Amino acid sequence: NRRWVLASRPHGAPNADNFRLEEDSIATPGEGQVLLRTVYLSLDPYMRGRMSDAPSYTPPVQINEVMCGGTVSRVVSSLHPDFAEGDWVLGYSGWQDYDISGGEGLVNLGANPQHPSWALGVLGMPGFTAYMGLLDIGQPKAGETLVVAAATGPVGSTVGQIGKLKGCHVVGVAGGSEKCRHAVDVLGFDHCLDHHAPDFAQQLKTACPQGIDIYFENVGGKVFDAVLPLLNTAARIPLCGLVSGYNATELPAGPDRIPLLMATLLKKRIRLQGFIINQDYGHRLNEFQQEMGQWVSEGKIHYREHVTEGLENAPDAFFGLLEGKNFGKAVVKIGAE
Ligand code: NDP
Repeated sequence: NRRWVLASRPHGAPNADNFRLEEDSIATPGEGQVLLRTVYLSLDPYMRGRMSDAPSYTPPVQINEVMCGGTVSRVVSSLHPDFAEGDWVLGYSGWQDYDISGGEGLVNLGANPQHPSWALGVLGMPGFTAYMGLLDIGQPKAGETLVVAAATGPVGSTVGQIGKLKGCHVVGVAGGSEKCRHAVDVLGFDHCLDHHAPDFAQQLKTACPQGIDIYFENVGGKVFDAVLPLLNTAARIPLCGLVSGYNATELPAGPDRIPLLMATLLKKRIRLQGFIINQDYGHRLNEFQQEMGQWVSEGKIHYREHVTEGLENAPDAFFGLLEGKNFGKAVVKIGAE
């Protein structure tokens, strides 16, 4: 059993020294336990936060502990009544080949799910985040303008597509022309702008002639700076993530912009609300699963994965995720189906 443990805490961008690959024997399940073999490991931006010991909504991964992560696995052997050999399960085994579980928090996906790995993306935590953040906090109405960055990732791509289903004018923001083309041609966004463009702020203004009613915040930084002056009165900002700053070691250069932000929120009566998906909306998971399952099966929501082969490549794939090198939901395929 190979497993990546956290070897040290990063300062700024994480690097190879922060992880260590260890190997030990595969454990045997006891009464009431299952042995799981990981097939897909999810890589998500929140993992950067778990590597740090700064206070957060969940305790950090401890040094020498296996790195955390959502997984889709197969049951190798079971002494648990709810799981049979060969079943697919959604769990939280982390960055390792095998895991022993007593069944807590495991979701049985059955013997033959259509797209097992999608439980880590559009049909799982990121899809749920997009759904609740947009519909409950964003409150989209037909004709409104919705802006979302990280537009081809699992959260942003789902936000924009739900926005289109609700009749919004949807403007995506992504890194590079290939991602932007995908957002428009495949996902059906009205526009998608490359945040690397020197005139990005001007392009955003042109793409939002009626201003912005909903800004689904995934990234912060210069995208937020460009959005701020375009926000309309009574705009809503679901504050989901700030990935552009996860590796930051100091405050950005330049004048303090908090007074400008506060004055804009006040004068335009803007509602900005942070949320942590499972803590805030765990009780509404069924509602999401029903509706999203239907949309996906009807082809109304498209989903793209960025698959890296091999557990040994998980750290590099994770570093790439924080730099926008993924094009679609980042997953690592660890073992054969
Ligand atoms: P993605 O797969 O979209 O990966 C992150 C993307 O962010 C990168 O691919 C990159 O896309 C973009 N990005 C990185 N750096 C910058 C930058 N400096 N400026 C602009 N964009 C940047 O991730 P997810 O869809 O999984 O997550 C999206 C956001 O949602 C994250 O902030 C995450 O933390 C948050 N989240 C929050 C949850 C909650 O409960 N609040 C739950 C789940 C996710 P590109 O190349 O297009 O710029």
